[in-house]
Amino acid sequence: MSTIALAAMGPLPDGLTALVAEALRRAFALPVATLPALAEPADAYSPRRNQWLASAFLEHLLAAAPPAPFRLLGLTERDLFVPVLSFVYGQAQLEGRAAVVSLARLRPEFHGLAQDGALVERRVATEAVHEVGHTLGLVHCLDRRCPMSLSIDLTDLDRKTAEPCPGCSALVEGSSAMKRARAVAEGGRR
Ligand SMILES: [Zn+2]
Ligand SMILES: [Zn+2]
Repeated sequence: MSTIALAAMGPLPDGLTALVAEALRRAFALPVATLPALAEPADAYSPRRNQWLASAFLEHLLAAAPPAPFRLLGLTERDLFVPVLSFVYGQAQLEGRAAVVSLARLRPEFHGLAQDGALVERRVATEAVHEVGHTLGLVHCLDRRCPMSLSIDLTDLDRKTAEPCPGCSALVEGSSAMKRARAVAEGGRR
């Protein structure tokens, strides 16, 4: 059984979910599936901010996706925020089921730079590993190359890889969330 399920929330570039699925498989050695695309939560939009409320994406994902997957990751083009921050690249429930990543600010063109598809792919893979890592109980890491380190801006983000550092890999392997994740994956194979 798939332990992690990915869903596009609204339109996404072709092939992006497959690429993110592969990054998650490599990072956590768990089975990853892609769900049919979901609609965006229309009530998440804030006209005042011209942004979308991240927690509404998490709630929508939990309500709309099938209950079976152990962890759910939504991907959206929308620019996400939480009330106390000007924006977020993504949000996750720490040791919870749901996480979301926004492509909006990962795109160079958002910042007035030339489009770069390969760069966007690298960034979204890294942020997907970061947010799913939180759902598996990982907290922020001090290794600037580790996907679990905190990104304040794209300079931070571009220092990171999608491969968790040895410390985070050991932590996640020993976590109770990962033990449950492995049990879910095993259960589906019988
Ligand atoms: Zn984080
Ligand atoms: Zn780390």
